[in-house]
Amino acid sequence: MVVIGGGPAGLSAAVSAARNGCSVTLLERYHHLGGMASGGMVLVLDDMVNEGNEIVTTGIVNEFVDRMSAQDGAVFPPPEDCLTNWEMWKKWSRWGCIDFHKTGMPQPIIHAVAFDPDCWKRVSLDLAREAGVNLRLHSWFSEAMVEDGRVTGVICQTKLGRQAIKAKMVIDASGDLDVASSAGASFQTGQYIVTTVFRLCDVDTDKAEAFEFENPEEYKALDRQVRRVIGGAWGMWWLKTPLPGIVWCNCPHMPGYDGLSPEHMLAAEVEGRERMMKLLAFVRANLPGFENAKMLGAAEQLGIRQTRLLQGEYVVTRVDVRSRRHFSDSVCRGRDYYTPYRALLPKGIDNLIVAGRHYSVESEAQKLSREIPPCMAQGEAAGVAVAVALDQNCALRDATLPRSRNACVPRAPTPATSHQQMRSSKAPSLQNKKDNKREYPSFPTLRCPHSGLHPGHAGAMCNPDAGRFRCGRHQDRAPRCGRPVAALLRRAVGRGHEQRRLLVAEPQQAVCRDRHQVR
Ligand SMILES: Cc1cc2nc3c(=O)[nH]c(=O)nc-3n(C[C@H](O)[C@H](O)[C@H](O)COP(=O)(O)OP(=O)(O)OC[C@H]3O[C@@H](n4cnc5c(N)ncnc54)[C@H](O)[C@@H]3O)c2cc1C
Repeated sequence: MVVIGGGPAGLSAAVSAARNGCSVTLLERYHHLGGMASGGMVLVLDDMVNEGNEIVTTGIVNEFVDRMSAQDGAVFPPPEDCLTNWEMWKKWSRWGCIDFHKTGMPQPIIHAVAFDPDCWKRVSLDLAREAGVNLRLHSWFSEAMVEDGRVTGVICQTKLGRQAIKAKMVIDASGDLDVASSAGASFQTGQYIVTTVFRLCDVDTDKAEAFEFENPEEYKALDRQVRRVIGGAWGMWWLKTPLPGIVWCNCPHMPGYDGLSPEHMLAAEVEGRERMMKLLAFVRANLPGFENAKMLGAAEQLGIRQTRLLQGEYVVTRVDVRSRRHFSDSVCRGRDYYTPYRALLPKGIDNLIVAGRHYSVESEAQKLSREIPPCMAQGEAAGVAVAVALDQNCALRDATLPRSRNACVPRAPTPATSHQQMRSSKAPSLQNKKDNKREYPSFPTLRCPHSGLHPGHAGAMCNPDAGRFRCGRHQDRAPRCGRPVAALLRRAVGRGHEQRRLLVAEPQQAVCRDRHQVR
Protein backbone atom coordinates (compact mmCIF):
# COMPACT_ATOMS: atom_id res chain seq x y z
CA MET A 1 0.00 0.00 0.00
CA VAL A 2 1.07 3.59 -0.46
CA VAL A 3 0.50 6.65 1.72
CA ILE A 4 0.81 10.08 0.13
CA GLY A 5 1.93 12.81 2.52
CA GLY A 6 4.36 12.49 5.42
CA GLY A 7 2.58 14.96 7.72
CA PRO A 8 1.05 14.02 11.08
CA ALA A 9 -1.82 12.07 9.48
CA GLY A 10 0.27 10.32 6.82
CA LEU A 11 3.09 9.30 9.14
CA SER A 12 0.56 7.87 11.62
CA ALA A 13 -1.23 6.03 8.83
CA ALA A 14 1.98 4.54 7.46
CA VAL A 15 3.28 3.46 10.87
CA SER A 16 -0.06 2.01 11.91
CA ALA A 17 -0.48 0.05 8.67
CA ALA A 18 3.10 -1.23 8.81
CA ARG A 19 2.66 -2.32 12.42
CA ASN A 20 -0.41 -4.20 11.31
CA GLY A 21 1.61 -6.20 8.83
CA CYS A 22 1.23 -4.20 5.59
CA SER A 23 4.03 -3.44 3.20
CA VAL A 24 3.93 0.36 3.17
CA THR A 25 5.50 3.02 1.00
CA LEU A 26 5.26 6.57 2.35
CA LEU A 27 5.62 9.23 -0.30
CA GLU A 28 6.49 12.82 0.62
CA ARG A 29 7.33 15.77 -1.62
CA TYR A 30 9.79 17.45 0.74
CA HIS A 31 13.08 16.34 2.27
CA HIS A 32 11.57 15.92 5.71
CA LEU A 33 8.57 14.35 7.41
CA GLY A 34 6.11 16.27 9.57
CA GLY A 35 4.04 18.51 7.29
CA MET A 36 2.66 21.47 9.21
CA ALA A 37 4.07 20.11 12.48
CA SER A 38 7.65 20.54 11.29
CA GLY A 39 7.89 22.35 7.95
CA GLY A 40 4.94 24.55 8.90
CA MET A 41 6.35 25.18 12.40
CA VAL A 42 2.97 24.70 14.06
CA LEU A 43 4.43 23.98 17.46
CA VAL A 44 1.68 23.12 19.95
CA LEU A 45 -0.34 19.89 20.02
CA ASP A 46 -3.93 20.92 20.74
CA ASP A 47 -7.33 19.32 21.25
CA MET A 48 -5.93 16.49 23.35
CA VAL A 49 -8.29 16.79 26.31
CA ASN A 50 -12.04 16.79 26.83
CA GLU A 51 -14.07 19.16 28.97
CA GLY A 52 -13.07 17.14 32.04
CA ASN A 53 -9.40 17.71 31.22
CA GLU A 54 -8.86 14.03 30.51
CA ILE A 55 -6.56 13.13 27.65
CA VAL A 56 -8.69 11.74 24.86
CA THR A 57 -6.24 11.42 21.99
CA THR A 58 -3.66 8.78 22.65
CA GLY A 59 -1.82 6.36 20.39
CA ILE A 60 0.97 7.50 18.11
CA VAL A 61 0.65 11.11 19.18
CA ASN A 62 1.53 10.03 22.71
CA GLU A 63 4.52 8.14 21.38
CA PHE A 64 5.66 11.40 19.82
CA VAL A 65 5.24 13.19 23.12
CA ASP A 66 7.19 10.52 25.02
CA ARG A 67 10.00 10.42 22.51
CA MET A 68 10.26 14.16 22.10
CA SER A 69 10.25 14.62 25.89
CA ALA A 70 13.11 12.14 26.16
CA GLN A 71 15.07 14.36 23.75
CA ASP A 72 14.11 17.59 25.58
CA GLY A 73 12.00 18.43 22.56
CA ALA A 74 8.59 18.71 24.24
CA VAL A 75 7.19 20.67 27.16
CA PHE A 76 3.77 20.27 28.80
CA PRO A 77 2.25 20.95 32.21
CA PRO A 78 2.12 18.16 34.78
CA PRO A 79 -1.44 17.24 35.80
CA GLU A 80 -1.16 19.10 39.09
CA ASP A 81 -0.60 22.33 37.13
CA CYS A 82 -3.71 21.87 34.98
CA LEU A 83 -5.77 24.31 37.01
CA THR A 84 -7.57 27.59 36.47
CA ASN A 85 -5.74 30.25 38.46
CA TRP A 86 -3.39 33.15 37.83
CA GLU A 87 -0.34 31.38 39.20
CA MET A 88 -0.62 28.58 36.65
CA TRP A 89 -1.62 31.03 33.95
CA LYS A 90 1.63 32.90 34.47
CA LYS A 91 3.57 29.66 34.43
CA TRP A 92 2.02 28.04 31.35
CA SER A 93 0.14 30.48 29.13
CA ARG A 94 3.19 31.43 27.06
CA TRP A 95 3.71 27.76 26.29
CA GLY A 96 0.29 27.73 24.62
CA CYS A 97 -1.06 25.20 27.13
CA ILE A 98 -4.36 26.99 27.68
CA ASP A 99 -7.93 26.23 26.75
CA PHE A 100 -8.44 28.67 23.88
CA HIS A 101 -12.12 27.79 23.77
CA LYS A 102 -12.78 29.41 27.14
CA THR A 103 -13.14 33.16 27.16
CA GLY A 104 -13.05 34.03 30.88
CA MET A 105 -9.69 34.93 32.40
CA PRO A 106 -7.55 33.23 33.46
CA GLN A 107 -8.18 30.50 30.91
CA PRO A 108 -7.72 26.95 32.23
CA ILE A 109 -4.32 25.33 31.87
CA ILE A 110 -4.72 22.07 29.96
CA HIS A 111 -2.63 19.22 28.64
CA ALA A 112 -1.22 20.61 25.39
CA VAL A 113 2.32 20.03 24.20
CA ALA A 114 4.84 22.59 22.97
CA PHE A 115 7.48 20.93 20.82
CA ASP A 116 10.52 21.49 18.66
CA PRO A 117 10.04 21.04 14.88
CA ASP A 118 13.36 19.34 14.22
CA CYS A 119 12.67 16.89 17.01
CA TRP A 120 9.35 16.11 15.31
CA LYS A 121 11.23 15.32 12.09
CA ARG A 122 13.64 13.00 13.91
CA VAL A 123 10.90 11.15 15.76
CA SER A 124 8.90 10.78 12.54
CA LEU A 125 11.92 9.24 10.83
CA ASP A 126 12.61 6.92 13.76
CA LEU A 127 9.02 5.69 13.99
CA ALA A 128 8.78 5.11 10.24
CA ARG A 129 12.04 3.24 10.05
CA GLU A 130 11.37 1.14 13.15
CA ALA A 131 8.00 0.11 11.72
CA GLY A 132 9.66 -0.90 8.45
CA VAL A 133 8.00 1.79 6.32
CA ASN A 134 9.59 2.20 2.91
CA LEU A 135 10.30 5.94 2.78
CA ARG A 136 10.21 7.89 -0.44
CA LEU A 137 10.97 11.56 0.10
CA HIS A 138 11.68 14.09 -2.68
CA SER A 139 8.78 12.61 -4.62
CA TRP A 140 5.88 14.84 -5.60
CA PHE A 141 2.59 13.02 -6.17
CA SER A 142 1.11 14.17 -9.47
CA GLU A 143 -1.55 11.74 -10.63
CA ALA A 144 -3.59 8.75 -9.54
CA MET A 145 -3.70 5.68 -11.77
CA VAL A 146 -7.33 4.55 -11.90
CA GLU A 147 -8.85 1.47 -13.51
CA ASP A 148 -12.48 0.40 -13.14
CA GLY A 149 -13.12 2.53 -10.10
CA ARG A 150 -9.97 1.36 -8.32
CA VAL A 151 -6.77 3.26 -7.76
CA THR A 152 -4.02 0.99 -9.03
CA GLY A 153 -1.14 3.25 -8.09
CA VAL A 154 0.23 6.75 -8.11
CA ILE A 155 2.57 8.70 -10.34
CA CYS A 156 5.07 11.06 -8.79
CA GLN A 157 7.59 13.55 -10.12
CA THR A 158 11.20 13.22 -9.04
CA LYS A 159 14.53 14.62 -10.21
CA LEU A 160 14.78 11.47 -12.29
CA GLY A 161 11.48 12.16 -14.01
CA ARG A 162 8.06 10.55 -13.62
CA GLN A 163 7.86 7.37 -11.58
CA ALA A 164 4.95 5.07 -10.84
CA ILE A 165 4.26 3.21 -7.62
CA LYS A 166 1.69 0.45 -7.86
CA ALA A 167 -0.43 -0.30 -4.83
CA LYS A 168 -3.40 -2.38 -3.72
CA MET A 169 -4.55 0.29 -1.29
CA VAL A 170 -3.91 4.02 -1.13
CA ILE A 171 -4.16 6.51 1.75
CA ASP A 172 -4.40 10.16 0.79
CA ALA A 173 -2.82 12.24 3.55
CA SER A 174 -1.68 15.12 1.36
CA GLY A 175 -3.83 17.60 3.31
CA ASP A 176 -5.11 19.00 0.01
CA LEU A 177 -6.87 15.87 -1.21
CA ASP A 178 -4.45 15.65 -4.14
CA VAL A 179 -4.90 11.91 -4.66
CA ALA A 180 -8.63 11.56 -4.13
CA SER A 181 -9.40 14.55 -6.34
CA SER A 182 -7.12 13.20 -9.06
CA ALA A 183 -8.89 9.83 -8.77
CA GLY A 184 -12.25 11.51 -9.39
CA ALA A 185 -13.62 11.68 -5.84
CA SER A 186 -16.16 14.42 -5.07
CA PHE A 187 -14.92 17.33 -3.03
CA GLN A 188 -15.71 20.91 -2.15
CA THR A 189 -13.21 23.70 -2.01
CA GLY A 190 -12.91 25.64 1.23
CA GLN A 191 -10.68 28.46 2.36
CA TYR A 192 -9.34 29.82 5.61
CA ILE A 193 -6.64 32.25 6.67
CA VAL A 194 -3.09 31.52 5.49
CA THR A 195 -0.14 32.14 7.84
CA THR A 196 3.60 32.49 7.38
CA VAL A 197 4.69 31.20 10.78
CA PHE A 198 8.16 32.30 11.88
CA ARG A 199 10.54 32.07 14.82
CA LEU A 200 12.54 34.75 16.60
CA CYS A 201 15.70 34.04 18.56
CA ASP A 202 17.56 35.90 21.33
CA VAL A 203 14.33 36.76 23.10
CA ASP A 204 14.53 37.27 26.86
CA THR A 205 11.30 35.41 27.59
CA ASP A 206 11.58 35.85 31.38
CA LYS A 207 11.77 39.60 30.96
CA ALA A 208 8.94 39.62 28.43
CA GLU A 209 6.71 37.60 30.78
CA ALA A 210 7.61 39.70 33.79
CA PHE A 211 6.65 42.85 31.88
CA GLU A 212 3.39 41.27 30.72
CA PHE A 213 2.34 40.11 34.17
CA GLU A 214 3.60 43.07 36.20
CA ASN A 215 2.34 45.80 33.86
CA PRO A 216 -0.81 44.31 32.37
CA GLU A 217 -2.33 47.57 31.12
CA GLU A 218 0.88 48.81 29.54
CA TYR A 219 1.43 45.39 28.02
CA LYS A 220 -2.09 45.25 26.58
CA ALA A 221 -1.68 48.65 24.92
CA LEU A 222 1.64 47.62 23.37
CA ASP A 223 0.29 44.23 22.33
CA ARG A 224 -2.58 45.92 20.49
CA GLN A 225 -0.03 47.94 18.54
CA VAL A 226 2.02 44.83 17.71
CA ARG A 227 -1.05 43.14 16.34
CA ARG A 228 -1.87 46.19 14.27
CA VAL A 229 1.66 46.13 12.83
CA ILE A 230 1.53 42.43 11.93
CA GLY A 231 -2.06 42.79 10.75
CA GLY A 232 -3.75 39.56 11.84
CA ALA A 233 -2.83 37.46 14.87
CA TRP A 234 -4.45 35.54 17.71
CA GLY A 235 -4.13 36.97 21.22
CA MET A 236 -1.06 34.83 21.93
CA TRP A 237 1.00 35.84 18.91
CA TRP A 238 4.26 34.61 20.43
CA LEU A 239 4.80 31.38 22.32
CA LYS A 240 7.78 29.76 23.96
CA THR A 241 9.48 26.71 22.46
CA PRO A 242 11.63 24.04 24.15
CA LEU A 243 14.70 25.92 22.88
CA PRO A 244 15.64 28.76 25.29
CA GLY A 245 15.30 32.25 23.85
CA ILE A 246 13.47 31.04 20.75
CA VAL A 247 9.79 31.86 20.32
CA TRP A 248 7.38 30.93 17.54
CA CYS A 249 4.95 33.43 16.11
CA ASN A 250 1.70 32.10 14.69
CA CYS A 251 1.13 35.15 12.47
CA PRO A 252 0.49 37.02 10.25
CA HIS A 253 -2.90 35.60 9.34
CA MET A 254 -3.86 36.52 5.80
CA PRO A 255 -7.32 35.88 4.37
CA GLY A 256 -8.25 35.50 0.70
CA TYR A 257 -5.37 33.30 -0.47
CA ASP A 258 -5.98 30.01 -2.25
CA GLY A 259 -3.64 27.34 -0.86
CA LEU A 260 -3.68 25.45 -4.16
CA SER A 261 -2.69 28.31 -6.44
CA PRO A 262 1.08 28.82 -6.96
CA GLU A 263 0.49 32.54 -7.62
CA HIS A 264 -1.49 32.98 -4.43
CA MET A 265 1.03 31.05 -2.37
CA LEU A 266 3.90 33.12 -3.68
CA ALA A 267 2.00 36.32 -2.94
CA ALA A 268 1.23 35.13 0.60
CA GLU A 269 4.87 34.22 1.17
CA VAL A 270 6.04 37.68 0.04
CA GLU A 271 3.38 39.54 2.03
CA GLY A 272 3.98 37.43 5.14
CA ARG A 273 7.72 38.05 5.08
CA GLU A 274 7.24 41.79 4.74
CA ARG A 275 4.87 41.86 7.68
CA MET A 276 7.07 39.75 9.96
CA MET A 277 10.04 42.07 9.41
CA LYS A 278 7.85 45.05 10.36
CA LEU A 279 6.84 43.24 13.53
CA LEU A 280 10.46 42.48 14.34
CA ALA A 281 11.45 46.14 13.99
CA PHE A 282 8.55 47.21 16.20
CA VAL A 283 9.12 44.74 19.02
CA ARG A 284 12.86 45.37 19.07
CA ALA A 285 12.14 49.04 19.58
CA ASN A 286 9.23 48.76 21.99
CA LEU A 287 8.64 45.43 23.70
CA PRO A 288 10.68 44.61 26.82
CA GLY A 289 12.40 41.24 26.37
CA PHE A 290 12.54 41.59 22.58
CA GLU A 291 15.26 44.25 22.38
CA ASN A 292 17.83 41.83 20.93
CA ALA A 293 15.42 39.60 19.03
CA LYS A 294 16.48 38.38 15.60
CA MET A 295 14.68 36.65 12.79
CA LEU A 296 15.51 32.95 13.04
CA GLY A 297 13.48 32.26 9.94
CA ALA A 298 10.10 31.70 8.41
CA ALA A 299 8.65 28.21 8.26
CA GLU A 300 9.72 26.18 5.23
CA GLN A 301 6.07 25.50 4.43
CA LEU A 302 3.37 28.10 4.08
CA GLY A 303 0.67 27.67 6.74
CA ILE A 304 -2.28 26.37 4.73
CA ARG A 305 -5.24 25.33 6.86
CA GLN A 306 -7.90 24.40 4.34
CA THR A 307 -8.20 23.74 0.60
CA ARG A 308 -10.08 20.77 -0.85
CA LEU A 309 -12.37 18.84 1.47
CA LEU A 310 -13.64 15.38 0.59
CA GLN A 311 -17.35 14.86 0.10
CA GLY A 312 -17.34 11.28 1.20
CA GLU A 313 -19.77 8.71 2.48
CA TYR A 314 -20.62 11.11 5.32
CA VAL A 315 -19.88 14.84 5.61
CA VAL A 316 -19.28 15.95 9.20
CA THR A 317 -21.20 19.13 9.98
CA ARG A 318 -20.59 22.06 12.29
CA VAL A 319 -23.49 20.87 14.41
CA ASP A 320 -21.87 17.43 14.68
CA VAL A 321 -18.66 18.98 15.97
CA ARG A 322 -20.32 21.53 18.25
CA SER A 323 -22.80 19.06 19.71
CA ARG A 324 -20.08 16.43 20.16
CA ARG A 325 -22.10 13.99 18.11
CA HIS A 326 -20.99 10.45 18.57
CA PHE A 327 -21.36 8.11 15.56
CA SER A 328 -21.88 4.38 15.59
CA ASP A 329 -18.80 4.11 13.35
CA SER A 330 -16.61 6.67 15.14
CA VAL A 331 -12.98 5.73 14.69
CA CYS A 332 -11.25 8.60 16.38
CA ARG A 333 -11.75 11.75 18.33
CA GLY A 334 -10.15 15.03 19.23
CA ARG A 335 -11.24 17.04 22.22
CA ASP A 336 -14.96 16.18 22.40
CA TYR A 337 -15.64 15.74 18.69
CA TYR A 338 -15.68 12.49 16.74
CA THR A 339 -14.87 11.31 13.23
CA PRO A 340 -16.99 8.56 11.72
CA TYR A 341 -15.23 6.02 9.52
CA ARG A 342 -17.47 7.08 6.62
CA ALA A 343 -15.92 10.56 6.69
CA LEU A 344 -12.63 9.01 5.58
CA LEU A 345 -14.14 7.16 2.60
CA PRO A 346 -14.63 8.70 -0.83
CA LYS A 347 -17.78 7.67 -2.63
CA GLY A 348 -17.38 5.13 -5.43
CA ILE A 349 -13.71 4.24 -4.92
CA ASP A 350 -13.12 0.94 -3.16
CA ASN A 351 -9.47 1.06 -2.19
CA LEU A 352 -8.79 4.69 -1.33
CA ILE A 353 -9.12 6.27 2.10
CA VAL A 354 -8.19 9.73 3.34
CA ALA A 355 -6.82 10.97 6.66
CA GLY A 356 -6.05 14.44 7.94
CA ARG A 357 -7.29 17.98 7.49
CA HIS A 358 -8.99 17.29 4.12
CA TYR A 359 -11.38 14.68 5.50
CA SER A 360 -15.08 14.74 4.64
CA VAL A 361 -16.30 17.73 6.61
CA GLU A 362 -18.01 21.07 6.06
CA SER A 363 -15.66 24.01 5.76
CA GLU A 364 -16.83 25.64 9.00
CA ALA A 365 -16.65 22.33 10.85
CA GLN A 366 -13.13 21.67 9.60
CA LYS A 367 -11.95 24.91 11.20
CA LEU A 368 -12.98 23.43 14.55
CA SER A 369 -11.64 19.92 14.06
CA ARG A 370 -8.33 19.97 12.20
CA GLU A 371 -5.74 19.98 14.97
CA ILE A 372 -2.69 17.75 14.77
CA PRO A 373 -3.65 15.04 17.33
CA PRO A 374 -7.05 14.18 15.79
CA CYS A 375 -5.47 14.18 12.32
CA MET A 376 -2.98 11.63 13.65
CA ALA A 377 -5.78 9.57 15.15
CA GLN A 378 -7.49 9.55 11.75
CA GLY A 379 -4.24 8.36 10.21
CA GLU A 380 -3.96 5.51 12.69
CA ALA A 381 -7.53 4.48 12.01
CA ALA A 382 -6.95 4.59 8.25
CA GLY A 383 -3.83 2.44 8.63
CA VAL A 384 -5.74 -0.18 10.59
CA ALA A 385 -8.62 -0.04 8.10
CA VAL A 386 -6.33 -0.76 5.18
CA ALA A 387 -4.70 -3.65 7.02
CA VAL A 388 -8.11 -5.12 7.86
CA ALA A 389 -9.41 -4.67 4.30
CA LEU A 390 -6.34 -6.35 2.84
CA ASP A 391 -6.65 -9.14 5.38
CA GLN A 392 -10.35 -9.61 4.67
CA ASN A 393 -9.84 -9.10 0.93
CA CYS A 394 -12.67 -6.62 0.72
CA ALA A 395 -13.40 -3.01 -0.16
CA LEU A 396 -12.50 -0.49 2.51
CA ARG A 397 -16.13 0.39 3.10
CA ASP A 398 -16.90 -3.29 3.85
CA ALA A 399 -14.01 -3.83 6.24
CA THR A 400 -15.10 -4.89 9.72
CA LEU A 401 -13.18 -2.41 11.77
CA PRO A 402 -12.27 -2.92 15.37
CA ARG A 403 -14.58 -0.62 17.28
CA SER A 404 -12.95 2.25 19.06
CA ARG A 405 -14.29 1.73 22.52
CA ASN A 406 -13.78 4.37 25.14
CA ALA A 407 -12.67 6.81 22.46
CA CYS A 408 -16.12 6.80 21.02
CA VAL A 409 -18.24 7.16 24.09
CA PRO A 410 -19.03 10.83 24.47
CA ARG A 411 -17.88 12.18 27.80
CA ALA A 412 -16.52 8.77 28.68
CA PRO A 413 -15.24 8.62 32.24
CA THR A 414 -11.93 7.19 31.08
CA PRO A 415 -9.69 8.59 28.36
CA ALA A 416 -9.45 7.11 24.91
CA THR A 417 -7.56 3.89 24.57
CA SER A 418 -8.49 2.59 21.16
CA HIS A 419 -5.50 4.02 19.39
CA GLN A 420 -3.12 2.63 21.90
CA GLN A 421 -4.62 -0.72 21.11
CA MET A 422 -4.49 -0.14 17.38
CA ARG A 423 -0.88 0.85 17.73
CA SER A 424 0.45 -2.46 18.98
CA SER A 425 2.75 -4.08 16.42
CA LYS A 426 0.85 -7.34 16.59
CA ALA A 427 -2.51 -5.71 16.21
CA PRO A 428 -5.13 -7.76 17.99
CA SER A 429 -7.57 -6.79 15.27
CA LEU A 430 -5.78 -9.04 12.87
CA GLN A 431 -5.10 -11.85 15.25
CA ASN A 432 -8.58 -12.52 16.51
CA LYS A 433 -11.46 -10.91 14.75
CA LYS A 434 -14.21 -12.95 16.37
CA ASP A 435 -14.15 -11.65 19.85
CA ASN A 436 -13.90 -7.90 20.01
CA LYS A 437 -14.04 -7.89 23.77
CA ARG A 438 -10.98 -10.03 24.08
CA GLU A 439 -9.21 -8.24 21.28
CA TYR A 440 -9.70 -4.79 22.67
CA PRO A 441 -9.43 -4.94 26.39
CA SER A 442 -9.31 -1.45 27.77
CA PHE A 443 -7.65 -0.14 30.87
CA PRO A 444 -10.46 0.33 33.37
CA THR A 445 -9.06 -2.37 35.64
CA LEU A 446 -6.09 -0.11 36.11
CA ARG A 447 -7.15 3.06 37.88
CA CYS A 448 -5.91 5.35 40.53
CA PRO A 449 -7.85 4.37 43.66
CA HIS A 450 -8.18 8.03 44.58
CA SER A 451 -9.14 9.80 41.39
CA GLY A 452 -10.29 7.00 39.12
CA LEU A 453 -7.87 8.16 36.41
CA HIS A 454 -6.20 5.46 34.36
CA PRO A 455 -2.67 5.17 32.93
CA GLY A 456 -3.49 6.92 29.66
CA HIS A 457 -3.63 10.09 31.71
CA ALA A 458 -0.60 12.31 31.30
CA GLY A 459 0.35 12.27 34.94
CA ALA A 460 0.39 8.52 35.35
CA MET A 461 3.80 7.46 36.59
CA CYS A 462 5.42 4.20 37.41
CA ASN A 463 4.78 3.75 41.11
CA PRO A 464 6.61 0.69 42.35
CA ASP A 465 6.06 1.01 46.02
CA ALA A 466 2.35 1.44 46.32
CA GLY A 467 1.67 -1.88 44.70
CA ARG A 468 -0.93 -0.25 42.55
CA PHE A 469 -1.22 2.40 39.98
CA ARG A 470 -1.77 5.99 41.06
CA CYS A 471 -2.41 9.05 38.98
CA GLY A 472 -0.12 12.07 38.91
CA ARG A 473 -1.99 13.85 41.70
CA HIS A 474 -1.90 10.94 44.13
CA GLN A 475 1.47 9.43 43.61
CA ASP A 476 3.50 11.60 45.90
CA ARG A 477 3.49 9.29 48.84
CA ALA A 478 5.54 6.62 47.09
CA PRO A 479 8.92 6.63 45.39
CA ARG A 480 8.73 6.27 41.66
CA CYS A 481 11.01 6.09 38.69
CA GLY A 482 9.06 8.79 36.93
CA ARG A 483 8.54 7.02 33.64
CA PRO A 484 5.03 7.49 32.24
CA VAL A 485 2.98 4.34 32.75
CA ALA A 486 1.51 4.60 29.28
CA ALA A 487 5.02 4.52 27.83
CA LEU A 488 5.98 1.53 29.96
CA LEU A 489 2.92 -0.35 28.91
CA ARG A 490 3.62 0.40 25.29
CA ARG A 491 7.16 -0.78 25.67
CA ALA A 492 6.01 -3.96 27.34
CA VAL A 493 3.43 -4.58 24.64
CA GLY A 494 6.09 -3.88 22.04
CA ARG A 495 8.21 -6.59 23.65
CA GLY A 496 5.43 -9.05 22.93
CA HIS A 497 3.46 -9.07 26.17
CA GLU A 498 -0.18 -9.38 25.45
CA GLN A 499 -1.84 -6.31 26.90
CA ARG A 500 -4.69 -8.09 28.66
CA ARG A 501 -2.42 -10.45 30.50
CA LEU A 502 -0.09 -7.66 31.21
CA LEU A 503 -2.73 -5.56 32.89
CA VAL A 504 -4.98 -8.09 34.47
CA ALA A 505 -3.42 -11.49 34.90
CA GLU A 506 0.30 -10.93 35.07
CA PRO A 507 0.90 -7.29 35.72
CA GLN A 508 4.39 -7.92 36.96
CA GLN A 509 5.54 -8.69 33.47
CA ALA A 510 5.64 -5.00 32.80
CA VAL A 511 8.93 -3.77 34.13
CA CYS A 512 10.48 -0.45 33.34
CA ARG A 513 14.17 0.08 32.74
CA ASP A 514 14.68 0.92 36.36
CA ARG A 515 13.18 -2.44 37.27
CA HIS A 516 10.06 -0.99 38.80
CA GLN A 517 6.93 -2.94 38.26
CA VAL A 518 4.07 -1.30 36.51
CA ARG A 519 0.61 -1.82 37.88
C1 LIG B 1 -0.62 28.33 10.74
C2 LIG B 1 -1.26 27.12 11.34
C3 LIG B 1 -1.37 27.03 12.72
C4 LIG B 1 -1.92 25.88 13.29
N1 LIG B 1 -1.92 25.76 14.65
C5 LIG B 1 -2.16 24.55 15.20
C6 LIG B 1 -1.88 24.32 16.58
O1 LIG B 1 -1.44 25.21 17.29
N2 LIG B 1 -2.10 23.07 17.07
C7 LIG B 1 -2.56 22.05 16.29
O2 LIG B 1 -2.71 20.93 16.81
N3 LIG B 1 -2.85 22.24 14.98
C8 LIG B 1 -2.64 23.46 14.42
N4 LIG B 1 -2.86 23.66 13.08
C9 LIG B 1 -3.51 22.60 12.28
C10 LIG B 1 -2.56 21.48 11.91
O3 LIG B 1 -1.25 21.93 11.73
C11 LIG B 1 -2.98 20.77 10.62
O4 LIG B 1 -4.37 20.66 10.53
C12 LIG B 1 -2.36 19.37 10.59
O5 LIG B 1 -0.95 19.48 10.50
C13 LIG B 1 -2.89 18.57 9.44
O6 LIG B 1 -2.13 17.39 9.30
P1 LIG B 1 -2.15 16.62 7.91
O7 LIG B 1 -1.19 15.50 8.04
O8 LIG B 1 -3.55 16.34 7.54
O9 LIG B 1 -1.63 17.70 6.84
P2 LIG B 1 -0.23 18.44 6.68
O10 LIG B 1 0.36 18.73 8.00
O11 LIG B 1 -0.48 19.57 5.76
O12 LIG B 1 0.69 17.35 5.95
C14 LIG B 1 0.51 17.02 4.59
C15 LIG B 1 1.78 16.37 4.08
O13 LIG B 1 1.58 15.95 2.74
C16 LIG B 1 2.66 16.38 1.93
N5 LIG B 1 2.15 16.57 0.57
C17 LIG B 1 1.18 17.42 0.17
N6 LIG B 1 0.98 17.31 -1.15
C18 LIG B 1 1.84 16.36 -1.60
C19 LIG B 1 2.11 15.81 -2.88
N7 LIG B 1 1.45 16.22 -3.98
N8 LIG B 1 3.06 14.86 -2.99
C20 LIG B 1 3.75 14.44 -1.89
N9 LIG B 1 3.54 14.93 -0.66
C21 LIG B 1 2.59 15.88 -0.52
C22 LIG B 1 3.09 17.69 2.59
O14 LIG B 1 4.41 18.06 2.22
C23 LIG B 1 2.95 17.35 4.05
O15 LIG B 1 4.10 16.71 4.56
C24 LIG B 1 -2.38 24.82 12.46
C25 LIG B 1 -2.29 24.94 11.08
C26 LIG B 1 -1.73 26.07 10.51
C27 LIG B 1 -1.59 26.15 9.02
